[in-house]
Amino acid sequence: MKQLKIANIPGDGIGKEVVAAATDILKTVSEVHGGLKFEFTEFQWDCRYYLEHGAMMPEDGMERLSQFDGIFLGAVGDPNLVPDHVSLWGLLIKIRREFEQSINLRPAKVIKGIRSPLLNPKDFDIMVVRENSEGEYSSIGGSMYRGDDEIAIQNAVFSRKATERAMRFAFELAKKRNGHVTSATKSNGIIYSMPFWDRVFEDVAKDYPDIQADSQHIDALAAFFVTQPDRFDVIVASNLFGDILTDLGAAIMGSIGIAPAANINVNGKYPSMFEPVHGSAPDIAGKGVANPIGQIWTAKMMLDHFGEEELGSVLLNTIESVTNDGFLTRDIGGRHTTQDVTDEIIARLKKN
Ligand code: ATP
Ligand code: MG
Repeated sequence: MKQLKIANIPGDGIGKEVVAAATDILKTVSEVHGGLKFEFTEFQWDCRYYLEHGAMMPEDGMERLSQFDGIFLGAVGDPNLVPDHVSLWGLLIKIRREFEQSINLRPAKVIKGIRSPLLNPKDFDIMVVRENSEGEYSSIGGSMYRGDDEIAIQNAVFSRKATERAMRFAFELAKKRNGHVTSATKSNGIIYSMPFWDRVFEDVAKDYPDIQADSQHIDALAAFFVTQPDRFDVIVASNLFGDILTDLGAAIMGSIGIAPAANINVNGKYPSMFEPVHGSAPDIAGKGVANPIGQIWTAKMMLDHFGEEELGSVLLNTIESVTNDGFLTRDIGGRHTTQDVTDEIIARLKKN
């Protein structure tokens, strides 16, 4: 029996509602499967915890988390209680950085029953591998000359190590999917970092002669992402380009409440963290109307990560059968509650 120890951090707002839902579903998946057992330990590290303790987690919090196989996180932040930068940096970003979760992996896929702004959404099934540790989001730079002549300079940092790591991850993923890799570049305009990015891509691609590889400038890529999504399978992108592309992906999926994500630790030293794209959505928290699919799909990514791809597919197919039959929350034009959708997925998992 394979046993996985998971640290659950529901966080704030709807995080609590959707993590509860997705955890019930993971328990059902493992019951039905038999060979897999999840052991969940819950940590109530949220903005209320911060108000009581002056920190988002206890001093030994990271050490405790490091004992787990994975971290399953809802959403952090309640700006009415704690400023976002304090709560995010105190938990989410701290975990991403200290646990070297250098890849942000986000599927962008339209499933049946959910309306997408695309005309032909059935072709939309892309994995975006975003470099998550450096690139354009660096803290190197500065601003000068106050007044009319003020200027600001922001440096981007690209190391061969991190760039290669993201690209290898993308090729390995394409291998599993029997797919191909597109590199998002902009070497015609950004003349130091992006030609370097291209060079690393060419080098890594040589190690995967059986996998088709091509490069595309991010502006054209973004347009094709919408008009000809079937051109793409796995896209590897820098921190900034990946950030923009994945938000576009979530929009095309039909609601931010659906989009899943994973922060992957590649060197195996620390746990990876699975958290949906959406935030704590204070505007709908506590009403029972949050869409749980983003969190549940994120649970599917966790299954995939632990080598349970078959179960992952069963889960995603079940989600899709439920949306296709019209069990939809408000954000995607339905009237069903978080619980309705969750119960229906559980019932169908038990049946199959
Ligand atoms: P953050 O700053 O952490 O991203 P936020 O609340 O500002 O948090 P989101 O949580 O992403 O931003 O929410 C943006 C909008 O999308 C809100 O109006 C919210 O109600 C809606 N939303 C987000 N997630 C869901 C969900 N799972 N189900 C339904 N609506 C959602
Ligand atoms: Mg916000």
